[in-house]
Amino acid sequence: MTDAMTQIKIRLFIKQDLQVGNSVVLTSKQANYLFNVMRLNLGEKLYIFNNDDGEWLSEIMHKNKKVGELVCVAKTRDVDYPQDLWLLFAPIKKARTDFIVEKATEMGVSRIIPVITEYTNINRASKDRLYAHAVEAAEQCGTNFVPEVEELTKLNFLLNNWPSNRKIMFCDEDKSGIRLALNKDNKGPWAILVGPEGGFSHQERDQFLSRKFIYPTSLGPRILRADTAVVAALTLWQSTLGDWL
Ligand code: SAH
Repeated sequence: MTDAMTQIKIRLFIKQDLQVGNSVVLTSKQANYLFNVMRLNLGEKLYIFNNDDGEWLSEIMHKNKKVGELVCVAKTRDVDYPQDLWLLFAPIKKARTDFIVEKATEMGVSRIIPVITEYTNINRASKDRLYAHAVEAAEQCGTNFVPEVEELTKLNFLLNNWPSNRKIMFCDEDKSGIRLALNKDNKGPWAILVGPEGGFSHQERDQFLSRKFIYPTSLGPRILRADTAVVAALTLWQSTLGDWL
């Protein structure tokens, strides 16, 4: 293994019980990555984590081309529990949707729900593919919490079954100037809603504004692309209501 590699903190999301001495069986994809791509050997160490047990240092106990086994050595970090914040976004082109999932994972959402709105022009978003993207983002960026990713859901259905205690920050490009009353009194469960490239229809907007749990919010005077809007909205929310304080 080259020196450069020893500097890289290799991290894998492992959905198994991580406790001192527990052995962890690698998937063939994980074994391939560790042994063929990163060229790790027996006795070498890497970090493993999940949403329940936090991050652990582990040691390679068994390896061959297709399989491998680690042992948990010591806990290194607790779980980075995110805020109780969901992201509802209308899927756009694949690469930009992947970007949205990656940034939402880095910036600390607990749940990601791709939604179908009137102008959504992408009508499929594989939950498994997006979840794998969230896992990869967490492994690479250093957080040890992977948000839940839900199936593509009709926004209307969601709103008609919405938990009454959860506020929605409705990113509304037509309401520049209306600022969400973002202050510490608004603590509690939230969701951020960002529309598709086509924006929201007047009918959708009227429906949103009729619901008291929906707060129209401007992200400034310029129209942002949906992926930019997600990052801007997460920044605004985290810096006023979240854990950036
Ligand atoms: N086609 C629309 C823009 C859609 S941008 C138009 O030209 O008007 C995609 C989504 O990003 C919007 O639905 C909105 O949720 C969000 N967004 C973009 N710019 C915004 C802004 N300045 N303020 C609030 N939300 C914004």
